[in-house]
Amino acid sequence: MARRKKVYEGKAKIMYEGPEPGTLVQYFKDDATAFNAQKKAVIDGKGVLNNRLSEYFMTGLTQIGIPTHFIRRLNMREQLIRQVEIIPLEVIVRNFAAGTLAERLAMEEGTPLPRPIVEFCLKDDKLGDPLVTEEHISAFGWASQADLDDMVSMALRINDFMSGLMLGIGIKLIDFKIEIGRVWDGDFQRLILADEISPDSCRLWDIETGDKLDKDVFRRDLGDLADAYREVAKRLGVLPSNVTHAVKPTLIN
Ligand code: 5GP
Repeated sequence: MARRKKVYEGKAKIMYEGPEPGTLVQYFKDDATAFNAQKKAVIDGKGVLNNRLSEYFMTGLTQIGIPTHFIRRLNMREQLIRQVEIIPLEVIVRNFAAGTLAERLAMEEGTPLPRPIVEFCLKDDKLGDPLVTEEHISAFGWASQADLDDMVSMALRINDFMSGLMLGIGIKLIDFKIEIGRVWDGDFQRLILADEISPDSCRLWDIETGDKLDKDVFRRDLGDLADAYREVAKRLGVLPSNVTHAVKPTLIN
């Protein structure tokens, strides 16, 4: 039996070579990390939930004309994606103060922002993904001004879509992080949404109770992370059968 080639292993996902050139298989692990991997755990079922949720969000985004790397889900933990050249930036959109913005500006978490704010962080674990400005990005050549304009408008469209979707299931989208990649069509490059959109990379608060339904549950020891993600999936109708754990094969005689 041939072993497939691992292309890259990150904190929450593994990429394998895909069946055709220009494709990859993205495998969602159960590993959870926080604070630049200083806190680690294995959360049974997280990978299955994030695979489904990311599929759901990316499919919806494709339907409103936002290009994504998602091609199709292959199984419980894997999806086929387009290979992209990842831009080394985390694009963060914030609707309410929380996390590092709340800390940096001494704001109370949950304070509504006057308008959605887009931030960029350099993807560099050794430096702790520092906040960078558009000036840094263009001066150091991480992205051009035209790329930056495209990234901001894509991020704001994703924010509108995700905010509306979440509002419909009684959840406030506080903030989220996306990653964007380049694909080449001949000599022309296009930017497409890559990586994942899941409760690992969003802050999601229940509108009624204020309960957190995202990775802060793990970061701040607030309860069972998989239960929180399952709640989001259940409200979206993404897991009708509620099967999130691998079923062991049984021998049929
Ligand atoms: P903050 O800057 O407040 O820590 O994060 C803002 C938003 O981006 C949150 O929704 C957070 O989950 C997400 N985010 C920021 N950095 C990362 C990261 O390295 N990985 C993931 N999965 N999400 C991140």
